[in-house]
Amino acid sequence: MYQINDNYLKLPGSYLFSTIGKKVAAYSAANPDKNIIRLGIGDVTQPIAPSIIAAMHKAVDEMGNAETFHGYAPDLGYEFLRDAIAKNDYQARGCNISADEIFVSDGAKSDSGNIQEIFSTDNRIAVCDPVYPVYVDSNVMAGRTGTYDPKTETWSNVIYMPCTAENHFVPELPKETPDMIYLCLPNNPTGTTLTKGQLQEWVDYANKVGAVIIYDAAYEAYISEDNVAHSIYECKGATTCAIELRSFSKNAGFTGVRLGFTVVPKELKCNDVSLHALWARRHGTKFNGAPYIVQRAGEAVYSEAGKRELKAQVAYYMNNAKTIKNGLKDAGYEVYGGTNAPYIWLKTPNNMTSWEFFDYLLENANVVGTPGSGFGPSGEGYFRLTAFGNYENTVKALERIKAL
Ligand SMILES: *Cc1c(COP(=O)(O)O)cnc(C)c1O
Repeated sequence: MYQINDNYLKLPGSYLFSTIGKKVAAYSAANPDKNIIRLGIGDVTQPIAPSIIAAMHKAVDEMGNAETFHGYAPDLGYEFLRDAIAKNDYQARGCNISADEIFVSDGAKSDSGNIQEIFSTDNRIAVCDPVYPVYVDSNVMAGRTGTYDPKTETWSNVIYMPCTAENHFVPELPKETPDMIYLCLPNNPTGTTLTKGQLQEWVDYANKVGAVIIYDAAYEAYISEDNVAHSIYECKGATTCAIELRSFSKNAGFTGVRLGFTVVPKELKCNDVSLHALWARRHGTKFNGAPYIVQRAGEAVYSEAGKRELKAQVAYYMNNAKTIKNGLKDAGYEVYGGTNAPYIWLKTPNNMTSWEFFDYLLENANVVGTPGSGFGPSGEGYFRLTAFGNYENTVKALERIKAL
């Protein structure tokens, strides 16, 4: 008789955003006259930029023509896109990354979940706490995390690196040596980041102890401060210890279009085995990667018009971030983030737990946010608001919160 992968049974409770969805639906059903403003889920709201829509239309027409039709895409992705990425995201920033080190994909969520498959299940992972839940969850399913303690909401075989107001949300080098280190910078949910100098310490550490860094730069486009690295490859020695994940979701609104990429440098080796060669065998090659039409859309992100339009979108969201941040400060809240990321991370008032504050905000201001505890045990007592809404609703939400 067949057996299931019972690691899946170890996943605790329900998914954060399904719990939020159920609570909001129940409140909404009981209070149909209330206008609820959602500043919870990390999804964009601005439409796809015109130059990108034009590129997609053109690609759609090409697919209907025998001479310009495209079937299976090449393994790593189309060269036109990988060239544009290498040039704009890496070489222009002095990073020694070439187009053939870039693997185009359907987004950073699948890559960040699947990348662990090329590593031994005996490896020990280290994660920032709080952080995007996919890293821990995918390692739970792989059987790498040990046992779950519901009391502390921690896994026995995961090294947690607390990021709280006490350490300015900067993770400290772990006392126990990890094999795989997940860094998400700028961080979701705290919105904070490291300086280039601080990041260099992590690269030096990983090279010294023989750990691999999995670096999620999904929010790279939101970096506004000069001393923050846009890519880990701006650090010396990163090509021998780091894999970088990127997404077009948050910088170009592709959450529904689906496009991302992963950089696995050719120099990155484990006992002479090339990780690049291993990732080339990953699931999803050809079948689950990005369609031609979407890769043409990605290419347009790097066109002059695309860059201009997307800069305006990022500025729009970051203006929301500023509005939320300043508004909350005026209302007496302790707030973080919002400078290099579209997330505001606030301390819950009056020692409320994250979920208590969630209910309080939903019931009294009709505003939906995300409880910090959903991102890890050190997120307890914090709360995330996103800048991805439209400006009018963001202002309205802030007025309601201020009036509490
Ligand atoms: C949104 C997000 C992603 C997911 O990106 P997709 O390309 O849409 O899959 C990856 N990492 C972090 C930290 C995110 O917040």
